[in-house]
Amino acid sequence: MLEDYILKVILIAGVILSGLCIVGNIIIGLPLSLNIKWTILILMCILALILIRRNSIQEKVKFIFFLLIIVFFIPFGWIDSGGSANNTIAYVFIILISIIYLFDSWKRSFLVFIHISMFTGLHILEYLRPDLMKVHPSQSQFLDRLLQIPLTLYASYLLIKKFAVAYKREKRKLDEYSRKLEEANCKLRVYATYDELTGVYNRRIFDENLNILIDNNQDGDIEKAYMALIDIDYFKEINDTYGHLVGDQILKSFGKMASEAIKSPNILARWGGDEFALLYYGDIDAVMGKLELFQSYIDVEKVGKLADIKATLSIGITDLRHNDTVQDVLKRVDEALYKAKANGRNKITKDIIGKKEFFY
Ligand code: GH3
Ligand code: MG
Repeated sequence: MLEDYILKVILIAGVILSGLCIVGNIIIGLPLSLNIKWTILILMCILALILIRRNSIQEKVKFIFFLLIIVFFIPFGWIDSGGSANNTIAYVFIILISIIYLFDSWKRSFLVFIHISMFTGLHILEYLRPDLMKVHPSQSQFLDRLLQIPLTLYASYLLIKKFAVAYKREKRKLDEYSRKLEEANCKLRVYATYDELTGVYNRRIFDENLNILIDNNQDGDIEKAYMALIDIDYFKEINDTYGHLVGDQILKSFGKMASEAIKSPNILARWGGDEFALLYYGDIDAVMGKLELFQSYIDVEKVGKLADIKATLSIGITDLRHNDTVQDVLKRVDEALYKAKANGRNKITKDIIGKKEFFY
C-alpha cells in the first residue's frame, strides 16, 4: 500500500538525514552535544521501522512516532539549535506534509493542531525567554543552514514527488475505469432501448411512449395518434421451411427498413416474436402510407428474395380516443389484427371512429 511505503521512506529518510546532519555537524565543528537529538531521531526511526512490521500495531506506532516528533523532537531541536536562527521550519514543513499524507480523520486534525500550536508556542517562548535558547557562533549557524536547506528541500521534493507520481498513476487508472464504465453504460442504454435482433425500439420503450401518450390524452392534449400491430403471416412456417436464420434475416431486414421509414416522434418497436408495434402521430393517410410501404417491402420482391419466399403482413390499427386507457387501445388494436388474420391475412383492419373497415 502506498501509505505503508511512504511511511517506510520517511523513516529511512529520517535515519539518512540524521546521519548526514551528524557528519555535517562534526565537519563544521559544532559541539557534539548537538548530535544528541539526531541520535535520538535515528533510534526512534529504527525502532518505528522494526515495530511497523507488525501490522496490528502499525497505526499506533505511526501515531506515537509523529506525536513524539512534534512534542519532543521539534521543541528539543529548536532550543538546542538556537531557536529561529536554525532550520527547524523546513522540518516542520516536512512533518506537516507527512501527517497530511499518512493520517485520516481526527488523527490528522489532532496532529496538525498540536504541530501548529507547538511551533507557534516555540516562537512565543523564544520571544519571552530568549535566555533558554542555546547560542551558537553565527558562522556555525550559517554552515549548518547551508547543509540543511538543500537536504530538507530535496527530501520535501522526493516526498511530494512520490505522491504526485502515485496520484497521476491512480488518475490514469480512474480515467480508464471511467471510460470503460461509460462504454458499458452506453451498451446498457442500447440494450435497454433497442431490440437486439432487429435494431428497432424494444417493447419497454414502446410501452413508455404509449403510457405518456395516454396520460396526455387524459389531459385532453391529445393530437391525432394511431397504434398499429404488424404481424408476419405464417412466420412459423417460414422458419420451419427455410430455417431460423432465414427467419431472423427477414426480421432484421424488415426492422432496418421500418426504422428508417419511421421518424421520431413516431415509434416503431418489436412487440415480440414476429410482431411489431407502431405509434404514429399525424393523419390517417400518412400512417396508411407507411403501412402500405411495409406491406410492399415484406413482399417476395424485397425480403422474400432471400430465399424466394412469399411473406406477407397482417396489420390491425386503431386511433387513440379521449379517455382511452392503455388496455382500451391494446384491446382494440389486438382485435383489429385478429380480424385481419381471420379474414385471410395480408390485410390491414382499421378500428377507427366511424370507420371499421378492411383495407387491402
Ligand atoms: P400467423 O400468420 O397466425 O401470425 O402465424 P405465425 O406462424 O406467424 O404465428 P405464430 O405466433 O404462431 O408464430 C410466430 C413465430 O415466430 C413462432 C416463432 O418460431 C417465430 N419467432 C419468434 N421470434 C423469432 C425470432 O427471433 N427469430 C425467428 N427466426 N423466429 C422467431
Ligand atoms: Mg405471425
